Amino acid sequence: MSELLTVDDAIAAILATASTVAKLEHVQLDDASQRILAADIIAAINVPPADNSAMDGYAINTQDLSSTETTRLPISQRITAGTPPVTLAKKTAARIFTGAEIPQGANAVVMQERCEQQGDILICPSDIAVGNNIRKQGQDIQQHATVLKKGHYCQPQDIGLLASIGIAQVPVYRPLTVAILSTGSELVEPGQPLAAGQIYNSNRFLLKSFLKRQHINIIDLKSVEDSLGATEHLLTQGMQADCIISTGGVSVGDEDYIKQAVKNLGELNLWRIAMKPGKPLAFGNIGNTPFFGLPGNPVSAFTTFLLFVQPFLQTLQGQRIEKPRQYRLTADFTMKANPIRQEYIRIKIIDDKAVAFSNQSSGVLSSTSWADGLAIMQAKQDISIGDTVNVLLLSDLIP
Ligand code: AMP
Ligand code: MG
Repeated sequence: MSELLTVDDAIAAILATASTVAKLEHVQLDDASQRILAADIIAAINVPPADNSAMDGYAINTQDLSSTETTRLPISQRITAGTPPVTLAKKTAARIFTGAEIPQGANAVVMQERCEQQGDILICPSDIAVGNNIRKQGQDIQQHATVLKKGHYCQPQDIGLLASIGIAQVPVYRPLTVAILSTGSELVEPGQPLAAGQIYNSNRFLLKSFLKRQHINIIDLKSVEDSLGATEHLLTQGMQADCIISTGGVSVGDEDYIKQAVKNLGELNLWRIAMKPGKPLAFGNIGNTPFFGLPGNPVSAFTTFLLFVQPFLQTLQGQRIEKPRQYRLTADFTMKANPIRQEYIRIKIIDDKAVAFSNQSSGVLSSTSWADGLAIMQAKQDISIGDTVNVLLLSDLIP
């Protein structure tokens, strides 16, 4: 078995093997949310397409105004949003409404609260600056500008932005296909009665839920008893996927068959990672399909999925990824550090402080459901109340 690997080195080694495998397709704008752009998006138009009024008021030309006293201007047209204006006649004003296009010849909008209208005559104050209350053409987006880049993950605001430049069909990457397998003779599926010695299979549903959120197609290999033949048989069925993920069976116990099965079908690196919860992590390939063997303990599966598998899948999917942001929070707990392994403490933010879940065992899945984030406790560096800790937010890690 190899030396202990740091989390960062393991992530770097995993990502070094990954590149985009997803193919391009076009989807309707409505269906582009949470998808990854497969091309840069260039604006064909300016937004707004023309200068328009930021206020309900009057469009005027400041050259027509006296610099010292009010000016009387006949109102020559009425411009509502959505109607094209005509050129503003000299020494006149146009009644104008928010969002309506500024007529040629006007260079400012006076808000209605500052004017008086007597019949068809506007009484306009003197101190109006050029450009007042005009939203300039292209102030949001300039024609030919790159609005969003290839590899961008589309959020609701991005969908709104694409709509604002008139895009109806969006180039995105096709969803990946990922095969998942849970190992363990003790596993029973939810909905079935539980006999002595059995536990429910939580990892299968945990992983499926992660993958579904990312539109990933799932080959569900379900669960397999602890047997080499059955494990090999099922892993083979996952080879058509873009990636295979298993949970459990990667320890050094007699009943852990994943390692041998993967070695027989492909290549395996068994990494002991200097982290808790989480070691060991198996990474390799079955045939040409990349393979992750996550630990069986549900919190370990959760953490290793988020730290290692997630950025790998995002890279296969064509997403441009960044290192997840670490927030600095004050610890409201005391904890003894492990001598060699970095620990990911399930914490909740209460009154701007990080509070740790009472039981940090890797079998306690309720800690992940309770938590807002993972505080990173470095090896040998005990945490005391008042210390600053680096925290990864689950809302950043789970897309
Ligand atoms: P293993 O890595 O196979 O040694 O499993 C470590 C621990 O995680 C054992 O207590 C298993 O019962 C448990 N475990 C393994 N797979 C699952 C699963 N799919 N759902 C819930 N617990 C599991
Ligand atoms: Mg097992």
